[in-house]
Parts: sequence; C-alpha cells; structure tokens
Amino acid sequence: MRALVKVEAARGLTMRQEPAPVPGPDDVIVKVKKTGICGTDVHIYKWDEWAQKTIPVPMIVGHEYAGEIVEVGSHVKNLAVGMRVSGEGHVVGTKSRAVRAGHFHLDPETQGIGVNIPGAFADYVRIPAFNVVPLPDDIDDELGAILDPLGNAVHTALSFNLIGEDVIVTGAGPIGIMAAAIARHVGARHVVITDVNPTRLALAGRVADITPVNITEEDLKSVMARLKMAEGFDVGLEMSGQEAAFQQMTDHMVMGGRIAFLGIPSRPFVVDWAKLVFKVLTIKCIYGREMFETWYKMLAMLQSGLNVRPVITHRLRAEDYVDGFETMIRGESGKIVLEW
Ligand code: ZN
Repeated sequence: MRALVKVEAARGLTMRQEPAPVPGPDDVIVKVKKTGICGTDVHIYKWDEWAQKTIPVPMIVGHEYAGEIVEVGSHVKNLAVGMRVSGEGHVVGTKSRAVRAGHFHLDPETQGIGVNIPGAFADYVRIPAFNVVPLPDDIDDELGAILDPLGNAVHTALSFNLIGEDVIVTGAGPIGIMAAAIARHVGARHVVITDVNPTRLALAGRVADITPVNITEEDLKSVMARLKMAEGFDVGLEMSGQEAAFQQMTDHMVMGGRIAFLGIPSRPFVVDWAKLVFKVLTIKCIYGREMFETWYKMLAMLQSGLNVRPVITHRLRAEDYVDGFETMIRGESGKIVLEW
C-alpha cells in the first residue's frame, strides 16, 4: 500500500510502498479515504526539536482520517465491514488509575497514531476497535477527516459555559477558528479572535459571525470599546502558545474570568502570577479530546447547524502532500485535506 513515511531523521516525508496492516483480535482495518494535515504532522515534516526526540524512524505519520472499515478482528463486535468511520488517534492502555476510572484522555501511557504507532497517511490503517467513531450519514468523509482538530476545539470551547458570555480566542489557526465558531454556535455574545496573520483572520471572518482582530493594528481596549464591552472578556480560549497573546488575554479578562489553554508554547515563558491571582482567574489546560464525550458533542453540533467546512481551504491528492505541507508552513492555509 502507499504510505507517507518519515524515512530518516531529516526534513521531509517520503511516499513509498509499505506492507498493509493486519488486524489484531481487537482491531479494525480502515481503508483511508481522506486525511487532514495537522500541526503535529508539520512538526514531524520539519523535523524540529520535539519531533527529533519523539518520533522513531521509520514511521508512517498522520492521525486525522476518515474511511471505511474493510476488516474486523475476531473479538470485534458492533463494528462491521463497510461502516464509514473516523476515530480517536490516542490509543490508551488499561492499567492506569485514570483509565480504570474511565478518564481515558488522562492516561499517562497514551500512544499516538502517526506519532508512536503507524499512522493514517496510508491506504490502510489499523485502529483499535475501541477508538473507532462511526460517522453518521450526514457527516461526509471530508468533515470526518477533520474531527480530530474539531475535537480539540470542542474540548477547549466547551470547558466553560459560554452562553451569553464575551469570549476571546487568541490564535486564528484552524482550531482557533473552529473554537470561535463553536462559541458562536452555543450562544456567546461577542466572540473576538486575534492573530497577526491577515490570511488567517480573513478566513476566520468567513467561517463564522465573529470579530477578527489583527493585534498588530488594533489593541483589545479599542476592540472592547467598539463592542461596548465594559469590563473585559468572561472566557478566554488560548490557541496560539504565544507569550504576548496570553499576556494580552489576561490583561483584558474580567475578575473571575476563565481561561482554557490549548496552545503549546515552543519554549517556557514568564507569567505574571500576581496579576492572575488578583484577577481570580481560572486556567484549565487542555490536551486532546475527552473520550468519547467530545466526539459525541461535536457530531451533535455538526448535526445541529455548526458549520466548520469553510475552514478547509485546500483539497489535494495525497501525492501532492509536499504542496500541502509547504503551504501550511508558509501560513497560507486553513485546514488542508488529502484525498487517498
Ligand atoms: Zn491533529
């Protein structure tokens, strides 16, 4: 089968032939139809510091996918050949306290599809049946392929009650834009999204009825005045991992404001804890998706009018993956979907 492989410890990825996977008793094999390129994949492609210490080579990469089950293991019930599916890319164990308590997303022994175990940028991928999420008929493969990042957005956005609240999202990458769209969908009042990249901000404005702000051109004080907001933002969704963005956010939160933090800073940064204490802020760190409550919620919201399809800006054949990766690295895209 074709597979996109990190062949050696260097920049880039290679499309080459690999043996097709064989299911264990508790696995299914999925014929991959569409995949999304994630920021994680870009780290692996660029072979940055994180990738160098995390990814064993060779490794088939990719973890955002939709496809069809073509084989099921001997123990698998409730799933059948022909079902259209996506699935959770974090494979959890059975031993930790968190898993035994049902908090699967908090398992310290989690392995990542396309990170520690063979991934989905291939004609076929092996997935534990436990991880499979069947797709309703009205969720097509293209949306199925971006449920993983949408899940990050849903997990972050639904961390706090947003109804009637004023929300600031820092970082207008695909996940930030989708989180802002979710805040709008569930009934926030003002939803402001900040970035420094005009292409991303323009995309944000096309995806949902939100207020894109280029932070190099307008400060949040004047945005608040423009929106007639008196005190500050009630809820912050941090999606950029940028020190300056977090500072701007905390400077403009209300007393008792709540922040969900998904962005991953590339290096440690200084936090003015005294300011946070005197503002009585709550900060919740987010990683991945809750299994499987986040999946349930996102499918339900997609079926009740949440539209994130415009966040997909590029649809490419899998063979043209270099184009996709380089476009992402230049910051000129929303979500990029590869067709297999
Ligand atoms: Zn991802």
